[in-house]
Amino acid sequence: NLDEDVNEEAYRETKQISETINKTLEKLKAVDQSRQEFVSNVSHELKTPITSIRVLADSLMGMEDTPKELYQEFMHDISDEIDRESKIIDDLLTLVRMDKASSGLSCSQVQINGLIEMVLKRLRPIARKRNIELIFESKRDVSADIDEVKFSLAVNNLVENAVKYNKEDGWVRVTLDADHKFFYLKVADSGIGIPAEFKERVFERFYRVDKARSRETGGTGLGLAITKSVVLMHHGAIRVDSVEGEGSTFMVRIPLIYIP
Ligand code: ADP
Repeated sequence: NLDEDVNEEAYRETKQISETINKTLEKLKAVDQSRQEFVSNVSHELKTPITSIRVLADSLMGMEDTPKELYQEFMHDISDEIDRESKIIDDLLTLVRMDKASSGLSCSQVQINGLIEMVLKRLRPIARKRNIELIFESKRDVSADIDEVKFSLAVNNLVENAVKYNKEDGWVRVTLDADHKFFYLKVADSGIGIPAEFKERVFERFYRVDKARSRETGGTGLGLAITKSVVLMHHGAIRVDSVEGEGSTFMVRIPLIYIP
């Protein structure tokens, strides 16, 4: 009987170990696959503007006595594609730097209300163009230990999206609150919303619910990936609630004190 007990114990342990190994292998496979997907996405995204530029330049070169307006239109398109390419490269570099520098935050005591006001001020002209109201509701004066540059970028991406994926005459409401441990930032909008099945995916690199719309508004599909990276670097959390056709609310929670 003692032998049987020992055997059973050994069997259970072996089974547990093999389950752990299998789980680890699956995780590694997923990491590898997501890396491969990322590389293939990067090449695709970088090639798209180059291909357009090639086509536009080739057609210009193939024409004789191109009318001035047509020439200007093509050059304008080429210039837009170049801007797009640089935006993708900039965003990619930002993201790669974030990955590398996860321990390299440069934190200081920052007044969050002021930081939000600054972001809103910068985005007001874009919002005004579509008659979108930017509202800031501050429930408390908040100071926190954060990396000001990186965190401004994270907030900027959220508010910029709330404007971009909004309707004409809509609104964006940023709310700031805090308790003794965390501060809470909400960016709510009256926009097009995100279908429930894509809610988690919007934080993935290059993921876009509607490629055409993102492209039209100069999107690279990297904004929310950057925001999520910044939030995680600060040991915070981010999630989104949304009703399709009615709007979205992105919620961020960040510890008031950063512990490396
Ligand atoms: P993009 O450069 O395309 O804006 P992001 O990473 O910032 O990339 O966002 C990914 C996708 O998530 C967007 O293409 C859009 O489909 C969706 N999205 C982001 N923010 C919002 C929002 N406030 N309302 C609706 N959809 C949004």
